[in-house]
Amino acid sequence: MIADVEKRLEAAGIKPTAMRNLVLEYLLKQGSAISLAELERGLAPVDRVTVYRTLKTFEEHCLVHSINDGTGAAKYALCQEDSGEVRHHDLHVHFYCNSCKETFCLPKTLIPAVVLPQGFISEEVSLVMKGVCERCSA
Ligand SMILES: [Zn+2]
Ligand SMILES: [Zn+2]
Repeated sequence: MIADVEKRLEAAGIKPTAMRNLVLEYLLKQGSAISLAELERGLAPVDRVTVYRTLKTFEEHCLVHSINDGTGAAKYALCQEDSGEVRHHDLHVHFYCNSCKETFCLPKTLIPAVVLPQGFISEEVSLVMKGVCERCSA
């Protein structure tokens, strides 16, 4: 297990450390995106600043992406391992469940191309849908 975690870190160009291993291992267990506060609680006792820096390192290396689901706190989720040429975040839809309040990555649900008026240059795009998730609608 720890070997897999280290392999994944190295594949992303990140040097494994005890904290990075711990954070990645925890993220791999999640079924939905989590906030820094949730991550910190899950790993307690840990230093919040260290956890935050670890997330930022992961984000810079496209190992995780952050999601603004409108709840106020940024959430983090792992990027797909083999997303091919679409390396980084934002191109898939995120889904916020109004019932369980969880935010899910939908990596197979891509954001459709949007035609902008002339003179507008897109630099970032995100799409958060709100509704009822698979588990809550069952
Ligand atoms: Zn739900
Ligand atoms: Zn996502």
